[in-house]
Amino acid sequence: MKLTKINKSYGDKRVLKDVSLDFPAGKITVMVGPSGSGKSTILRSLNLLVTPESGKFDFNNHHIDFSNGVSNKEKLAVRRETGMVFQDYNLFPHKTVLGNVIEGPTQVLKMTSKEAQQRAKELLTKVGMGDYSDAYPNELSGGQAQRVAIARALAMKPQYVLLDEPTSALDPELELSVLKVLLQLAKEKQSMVIVTHNMAFAKQVANKIIFVEDGEIIYDGVPEEFFSSNNPNERIKNFIASMT
Ligand code: ADP
Ligand code: MG
Repeated sequence: MKLTKINKSYGDKRVLKDVSLDFPAGKITVMVGPSGSGKSTILRSLNLLVTPESGKFDFNNHHIDFSNGVSNKEKLAVRRETGMVFQDYNLFPHKTVLGNVIEGPTQVLKMTSKEAQQRAKELLTKVGMGDYSDAYPNELSGGQAQRVAIARALAMKPQYVLLDEPTSALDPELELSVLKVLLQLAKEKQSMVIVTHNMAFAKQVANKIIFVEDGEIIYDGVPEEFFSSNNPNERIKNFIASMT
């Protein structure tokens, strides 16, 4: 999955400036950087929730030149191959946990209800929520809700899972329950792109780390170097120090 020279503006504010990035399959790419730097805009460009004005996006058999616009058909096709997990879970409040997880597979993938339920139960067990099939979202803690949201994303069998600050709304002990699930997925080589402020987690899970500031890529490399005291970039060193 690859972005080449993408540009995005809101009004006269340039939010992404010629951003080029590669998100390798089977790897965990972590994006960090100050608030308002453009991390969410980049992540949302990957499933076309945001469409840049120019630049290119290459993903499987999708080769999009944003200058030519993007059809709804192409957007839906890309979204079927990517799963998005948001900071505030975005579960359907009037559906049970199981109902949330089977919705996409039955409606979009046209799985039979039986097949979808079977798979949903496996995924809920995997994220430690196997006993909560019949619960409603408002009966869950934030950590539990987020684990259901991850199971829901996985139910669509996406090639990439995109996670936008998945633990920012959680207390530390609840955060840990979600990070454990993400570490397990990383072990299984699930392709992921994760935006996070948790530097210890970034260091532990990232195969590749990107630092975004003011709509530009300031760093694109490996965590060993990024977090090393030898990192020559003072701005990055100060950022890491301020976050830990
Ligand atoms: P981050 O995720 O790094 O905090 P964002 O990608 O959300 O940053 O935002 C980057 C910049 O774009 C910010 O200045 C933000 O205010 C602006 N922005 C994001 N979304 C919109 C929008 N829908 N309308 C106007 N400005 C936006
Ligand atoms: Mg953001």
